[in-house]
Amino acid sequence: MTDALTLTNLSGRHGQLQAVKGVSLRLAAKEVLAVIGANGAGKTTLMRMISGLHPAAEGEILLHGAPVTSLPAHARLKAGIALSPEGRRLFGDMTVAENLQIAAENGRKGDWSMATVCDALPQLTALLHRPAGGLSGGQRQAVAIARALISNPSVMLLDEVSLGLSPAAVEGLYQSLETLRGHVTLILVEQDLTRAMAFCSRLICMAEGKLELDGPPATLTRQQITDAYFGIHKAKEPSHA
Ligand code: ATP
Repeated sequence: MTDALTLTNLSGRHGQLQAVKGVSLRLAAKEVLAVIGANGAGKTTLMRMISGLHPAAEGEILLHGAPVTSLPAHARLKAGIALSPEGRRLFGDMTVAENLQIAAENGRKGDWSMATVCDALPQLTALLHRPAGGLSGGQRQAVAIARALISNPSVMLLDEVSLGLSPAAVEGLYQSLETLRGHVTLILVEQDLTRAMAFCSRLICMAEGKLELDGPPATLTRQQITDAYFGIHKAKEPSHA
């Protein structure tokens, strides 16, 4: 079966700095991937490269087998890649409904509409006519997720899902995200390792721009994850052969 998303030797730069270094990854449809890694590991740059907001210096991105590497962000949204970015980046002067409407108009046709998105994220219904700029962090994150969802993506990227939110807001968001399982291929950047491991079907860890670890959470030990997080490469046992 064709991968939902294929990254081949993907590298990205900020000037002289190589922020993402030769990342290769194959993601099956409806997989739930959590991306962890220390500050500056390259997670956000990778999310922005997949969604077309940051150019790839090298490598290739395929969406359901079709190359999208050279497509601009708006064309990737139309093709089915949607990002909920770090910092949410809503139009603060517009209402929640207007923010969602713009995303719907720029996305794909599909089952996600204002009504179905409000079903998946019930807290939105009461917020639709409020300016996005006046919402709490948790409410803004819900709107940012809804905005990605209403574009009917096949691959949805959520950067820093729970950053800066109260425990109650994080709990509510994850309950909503649970309803998306099986409907969309999800990639989420999550600093909370326990939360990431409980939610994802697959975990990757980035360190210094490289993919250090990749596997289903149940197969990974805390030690492996900690080593990957800090980019520690265990010395190989000396060979006595
Ligand atoms: P964080 O959790 O802090 O957001 P991250 O894993 O998402 O970290 P990136 O934000 O992708 O990492 O940053 C990767 C590297 O690129 C870091 O060294 C960072 O300082 C650098 N970087 C990120 N954005 C820029 C930029 N706009 N200009 C220059 N360097 C940047």
